[in-house]
Amino acid sequence: MKLTVVGCSGSFPSAESACSSYLIEADGFRLLLDMGNGALGELQRHIGLYDLDAVLLSHLHADHCIDMVAYFVARYYRHDGGMPAAIPVYGPEGTERRLARAYGEMPDEKCMSEVFNFHTLTPGRFRLGPFAVVTDLVSHPVEAYGFRIEHAGKVITYSGDTGPCDTLRALAEGTDLFLCEASFTLGKEDIPELHLNGREAGEHANRAGAGRLVLTHIPPWTDPGINLNDARDVFDGPVDIAEPGAVYDL
Ligand SMILES: [Zn+2]
Ligand SMILES: [Zn+2]
Repeated sequence: MKLTVVGCSGSFPSAESACSSYLIEADGFRLLLDMGNGALGELQRHIGLYDLDAVLLSHLHADHCIDMVAYFVARYYRHDGGMPAAIPVYGPEGTERRLARAYGEMPDEKCMSEVFNFHTLTPGRFRLGPFAVVTDLVSHPVEAYGFRIEHAGKVITYSGDTGPCDTLRALAEGTDLFLCEASFTLGKEDIPELHLNGREAGEHANRAGAGRLVLTHIPPWTDPGINLNDARDVFDGPVDIAEPGAVYDL
């Protein structure tokens, strides 16, 4: 399994990075987790525009899904070769409606589903190409999921956006790589059921027995070095700050 960080800026893009988007590849299958602001441009540094096989959307905040509107345009109005076959898109209840509203006036009501085959997420487990995907609800003001992606004995867990919660620890149990949000700074921001700080991300990684922690979704106004140190205070394994273009081979 190969993970590429497409975009990792939290809440809004930075000068260096698009918002949340992570490419996971195995056996020639290309799965994208989230497609936040600016991610579609960055994605083309790594794969062709039409090479994606499936998309998982953790929740419907703009910094995790809004470039799906741009991707709809790229697929629906493709000039060379015509409209590509629909790819599966998994998201919370109302994903198609949310994206259609963001697009605005549609040529017709059904056109988004001509290029995206929408599936509504629920907590559980399903097969997606070569992957086993486990989903569960995490702690955020809107319906939001964390994802556990399994392939050939290796596991990547992605927190999505969440405050501290036991479902996240359970999803990350024994994970090889834990891609965990750390939006807040310890002692500075403390809003319940919204985001984690560096220390809380480290605590979840520690309790889950994660092999490696990659801190992500750090907003431009947050000092990543503080969150890195706070995570290292409570988690003994390797900890990185996600960087656009970073690749992890598992
Ligand atoms: Zn977010
Ligand atoms: Zn969010």
